Amino acid sequence: MELIEVKCVVCGAPIYVYEEYIKENMYCTIHCLNISISSEKEQIV
Ligand SMILES: [Zn+2]
Repeated sequence: MELIEVKCVVCGAPIYVYEEYIKENMYCTIHCLNISISSEKEQIV
């Protein structure tokens, strides 16, 4: 397995994850995940 550098889609912080765990949207913390979820709700409204 190889560690890949991806960027948090919210704050742009680098995250190192194994290639097989990379998803479309990566978050550095639960906090950034929550920001993303709440902003998606705002866009719908
Ligand atoms: Zn982040």
